[in-house]
Amino acid sequence: MVGGGIAGLAAAHRLRRHGGPDLRITVYEAGPAVGGKLRTGRLAGQPVEYGAEAFLTRDPLTGGDSAALDLARAVGLGDALCHPVTARAAIAVDGALHPVPAGTLVGVPGDLAALPPLATARPEPPPAAGAPPLLGPHEDVAVGALVRDRLGDQVVDRLVAPMLGGVYAGDADALSLAATMPALARACRGAPTLTGAVRAALAALPRPAGAPVFTAVAGGLGRFAAAVAAASGATVHTGQVVRALHPAGDGWRLTLGATRDPVHVTADAVVLAVPARPAARLLASAAEPAADLVGQLDYASVALVTFALPAGTALPELSGLLAPDGLVKAATFVSRKWGRPAHTPVLLRASAGRYREEAALQVDDDTLAAAALAAVGDLLGAALPAPLASHVQRWGGALPQYRPGHLDRVAAARAALGPGLALAGAACDGIGIPACVASGRRAADEIWQHLTSRRHRDR
Ligand SMILES: Cc1cc2nc3c(=O)[nH]c(=O)nc-3n(C[C@H](O)[C@H](O)[C@H](O)COP(=O)(O)OP(=O)(O)OC[C@H]3O[C@@H](n4cnc5c(N)ncnc54)[C@H](O)[C@@H]3O)c2cc1C
Repeated sequence: MVGGGIAGLAAAHRLRRHGGPDLRITVYEAGPAVGGKLRTGRLAGQPVEYGAEAFLTRDPLTGGDSAALDLARAVGLGDALCHPVTARAAIAVDGALHPVPAGTLVGVPGDLAALPPLATARPEPPPAAGAPPLLGPHEDVAVGALVRDRLGDQVVDRLVAPMLGGVYAGDADALSLAATMPALARACRGAPTLTGAVRAALAALPRPAGAPVFTAVAGGLGRFAAAVAAASGATVHTGQVVRALHPAGDGWRLTLGATRDPVHVTADAVVLAVPARPAARLLASAAEPAADLVGQLDYASVALVTFALPAGTALPELSGLLAPDGLVKAATFVSRKWGRPAHTPVLLRASAGRYREEAALQVDDDTLAAAALAAVGDLLGAALPAPLASHVQRWGGALPQYRPGHLDRVAAARAALGPGLALAGAACDGIGIPACVASGRRAADEIWQHLTSRRHRDR
């Protein structure tokens, strides 16, 4: 396993299930700990997430438990799962906070009457009899282009863009519908109107009343990553950058260690569960056509600034807010969202940075924290008090920017891989933790199939 983020760890865990106790599984992780974007720290005596904070409880395509929920339970964290106390978020537009309207899919509305005063949509013309579906069977489009065409600019600029931006720090006009909203893309392949497709997608997977959308792990998602690593029984080497990958006989040779003093190890099979840039570098000597395809994926950089504000600091009764422009793309009212005790410092997390606006982050931590605090104050309409403590976590090149056709490029890259080599993670199959877990599992299944068919052949 190259990469000890949640995708690589999920792959290791799945392989153990397949191969039993005798299978040798090794995880090489460049960082000082496993988890990748799952990293938990402490601020003002409280656990805080320096990266991802929660994951979807259900699969957007099947409506069943998400792969991450399933994995968390499988590694013994079922009793540690906790849910937000409030999930109500708002969008900051024109100096006011507007609740996110009900009945949308990542902001794409099924009911136009629910949008004002946040936005006004251009009504879709009723479909002519026999009108074809919005998308062909394998067609993909940019989210912004589709929504602008069907419902007008305001719905994109004031609703979809901030919602998508909250997840990807990206541009709604450039992000792929199929990769970012697979359930809506599927519905668009069967419906002649966009609002009809949203309603169909929502109706296909009705949510039981009161069922939580997101879950977190008490003590933090870092604990989740550590639990998966432990349950996988893999040998984990942290602080180990895999620098090269070459075919070697029936398997693969990995190069680690210092350039002047390289260490080579061989493996029957390899899962690359790393972001696109390192994946492309490693594939250059292992499967060049795949390297070219994987290397086309671009990333946005963000910084998460967490503040501990004096206990009692008043914040709106919301889980957080989203903003369509400016330094801060989203803020999470951590203490409100997760019901932290009233006598403790109030935690607030600002997510700063947007795709192609990296320059705004290129200042020292204190300057960035001050700018983020002021920006959240502006969005709330009142300056926030001086924090008791703050923490800046920079995530350079961390959020994938899936372009239309991304899923086809990934499929083509996978088809160009040699036997016993698999790709997994957010570079391939989706940004969310559940998608990364499912991606790791898929890679493990491919690898296991390869190993078993090789064993049968060699008998
Ligand atoms: C700030 C932020 C907040 C997020 N919030 C959420 C959220 O709340 N909910 C949610 O579902 N998703 C969230 N996401 C997305 C989600 O966390 C990630 O998409 C997911 O964790 C990626 O997992 P991964 O295993 O694919 O990759 P990563 O977590 O990037 O792991 C890849 C690992 O590979 C290692 N590596 C790289 N190159 C090498 C090499 N050459 N040799 C060895 N190791 C290498 C890296 O050090 C890293 O640990 C967030 C992402 C970010 C950045």
